[in-house]
Amino acid sequence: MKFFEMLIIFSLLFQLSTSYASTEPISLKQRCLNYLNNYPSYFKEEVLDQVCEKVQQTEGCKSVAGESIFHSDYVSKNPEAKKILVISLIHGDETNAGSVSRFWLERLQKVDARNSWRIIPVANPDGVNKKTRTNANGIDLNRNFPTVDWSSDAIKYWERYTQKNPRRFPGYAAGGEVETQCIMKHLEDYKPDFVISIHTPLKVLDFDGPKLKKAFPYSYLPWKSLGNFPGSLGRYLWVERQTPVLTTELRPTLPNEALPFEQLQDLVGTLVKKDLASGQ
Ligand SMILES: [Zn+2]
Repeated sequence: MKFFEMLIIFSLLFQLSTSYASTEPISLKQRCLNYLNNYPSYFKEEVLDQVCEKVQQTEGCKSVAGESIFHSDYVSKNPEAKKILVISLIHGDETNAGSVSRFWLERLQKVDARNSWRIIPVANPDGVNKKTRTNANGIDLNRNFPTVDWSSDAIKYWERYTQKNPRRFPGYAAGGEVETQCIMKHLEDYKPDFVISIHTPLKVLDFDGPKLKKAFPYSYLPWKSLGNFPGSLGRYLWVERQTPVLTTELRPTLPNEALPFEQLQDLVGTLVKKDLASGQ
């Protein structure tokens, strides 16, 4: 009898300990490590640990499924620094986009940068987890920004020009998705001078911004305008708010070395300081 009593007590204790373990919240650092470890690194492991140690979460920045949308801030010591906002994986199935953010986050641990950087590496965590372009509601977040023409044109455009492609569904309301609202909150709080949105695999640099005074050659990708659309970040930010947006469409396969990503980060740093500072 005593043995059975002990058995019951032990099994109750075991249940309690496992249920505690399963409900224990995952720290922001651990979430950051869980996501960013999926992308190949050009640095040693401990750099990612330093990156994830410092990530933050803006209030309200959660996905439909409740995943944290974390970000990292690098504050430049340069008094002339501009603020650059990086957004990647707004389309969850564009996996390689995560590698650029990981590399830039890690590189910022090692250099003294001219500009300040805020990086949101996983803007659509539910899409990443389900390997979909859209969020958990089946909405293309890069068609969900509340552009002036959203209510009149977003659905019409989707029907007419994409033949109701479910991968490009703009949603039910302008800026109606929590992930879109999170990015808008960042734009409002951080007030970036320049935004870079990382995508793949169209192999171009698509710039929505002022006419550049000179060419900025980038051998890894050619500059090519893809246009902007109702609800897209390019229309919302540049056309309506005069904040330049560089949409980077990576090649389908990642480079073997980090050089193209390093050059792109430097190019943006130069672009924002030299060419955009003196009026548009
Ligand atoms: Zn994309």
